[in-house]
Amino acid sequence: MKTKTLAQKIRNTEKKAAIRTAQNMTVRRKIWLLFLLFTAIVFLLIWFLEVVFLQTFYPVMKKNQTVRVAAKVEGLCNVGEDENIDTDKLQQIGINNNTCIEYIDADGAEEVRVDVMNGNCLLHGNRVDIYILLDKLMSSKNGKILMQVYDEKVQSQVIVYGRIIGTKSKPKGYLLMDAPLAPVGTFVSIIKRQMFYIIFILIVISILFSMYISNYISKPIKKLTESAESLARGDYNTKFEGGGYEEVDKLARTLEYAESELKKTDMMQRDLVANTSHDLRTPLTMIKAYAEMIRDLSGDNPEKRNAHLKVIIDESDRLSDLVNDMLDLSKLESGTLKLEETEFNITQKMKDIYKRYQLFADKKNFHIFFEPPKDRLVVCDEAKIERVICNLINNAVNYTAKDRNVYLREILKEDCVLIEVEDTGDGIEKDKIKLIFDKYYRSENHKRETVGTGLGLNIVKTILEMHGYRYGVRSTVGKGSVFWFEINIKKM
Ligand code: ADP
Repeated sequence: MKTKTLAQKIRNTEKKAAIRTAQNMTVRRKIWLLFLLFTAIVFLLIWFLEVVFLQTFYPVMKKNQTVRVAAKVEGLCNVGEDENIDTDKLQQIGINNNTCIEYIDADGAEEVRVDVMNGNCLLHGNRVDIYILLDKLMSSKNGKILMQVYDEKVQSQVIVYGRIIGTKSKPKGYLLMDAPLAPVGTFVSIIKRQMFYIIFILIVISILFSMYISNYISKPIKKLTESAESLARGDYNTKFEGGGYEEVDKLARTLEYAESELKKTDMMQRDLVANTSHDLRTPLTMIKAYAEMIRDLSGDNPEKRNAHLKVIIDESDRLSDLVNDMLDLSKLESGTLKLEETEFNITQKMKDIYKRYQLFADKKNFHIFFEPPKDRLVVCDEAKIERVICNLINNAVNYTAKDRNVYLREILKEDCVLIEVEDTGDGIEKDKIKLIFDKYYRSENHKRETVGTGLGLNIVKTILEMHGYRYGVRSTVGKGSVFWFEINIKKM
């Protein structure tokens, strides 16, 4: 029953994933749709402005324009008794604005006549019309008229403006103006027809343009995806090419970096498998060989048997060290092991460690030196820092020279405690110093008797970095190395 529901769940997840993929459009299609949408919006905007707005707004705009022109004309007509009206200027205004102007003085004599339409207008075509308009102007409430009328002669709408100059009771003269309204209807129908061509051209342009842009964007991404797939299949020599724009170039560089890191890790892991399998096999072979010796030869000889048992115990220790190192590192890296900071006396701790190493210094044939300073309290993860110090001492013991000397130092500074472990060994070449803290790195001249996994210094580095402590190595080839780190002083 349970398996059935699980299978159903898996099928459902697969279905959902398939739907999601179908819903996720390609960049090409998305860009194409966006362009189409953009074209539609542009088209609607033009349509609205040209067709709908033109019909309603044009007469209003024309009326406003006529009023503006009228203000200038009024100023020119309203002159003193002895002054002459500047008819040339009025002529120019009429021509510029396609407006006919008629100014009649209080006695009914024509003072100004600007006829820009050669008599084809309300004012200058038929005298009757002018009288009707004058009549309307005189009977208007505030001595002003502004209206839209249909002029049969030119068969179009015109805007008529009239104004009494002076006051209504004591007029100086009467100003009349008329301006034809262009026939918007025909204009609109032309635009409507043109719109079809415009929309067609817009669609073609947007298709071509979107195709070009989507190609430009998606081509390098497609190429990178193919390269990434080839990397996923394990080809670490894949080339990642950018593609003309910053984002893709950056992605290519990041992928190349990821590739080099993967390559390094892969190589190190291969090395580890080779090294650890060798390291695991050797003690196992020894354990088996010595166990067989005890069974077949030394079982009855307590002295020999004890010697053989010692080898078995040593080799078992070696094995458990190796396995522990691997476990610890994986725990540290996965974040399972958290820092447990406490306050403790670092000088006392160093003394304890020193004493412990002294206990088997004779047996392992090395000399360890330490001169403890004053007591000093520090706050950090005691067990982990002890592990760091022991790892460094183990290395010093393993790599120290014939004199077999190892120097342990604790230097109290104002803001930190400097711990140093010095050996008199072969030292480390400059170009190797960068590598020794890497996981799985082991020198090529790795000796069998040296207990080591290539993990010790990586554990040191991980713990010190978790604490945020400074650390490093000073080393001279042929003279020895000093591994150091600083425990920062902080209060609980
Ligand atoms: P291992 O188990 O091989 O000692 P480590 O991580 O402790 O692994 O050290 C990595 C490498 O660093 C060693 O293989 C060795 O080459 C170098 N190394 C570490 N400590 C010393 C030292 N005190 N003197 C010289 N080389 C050292």
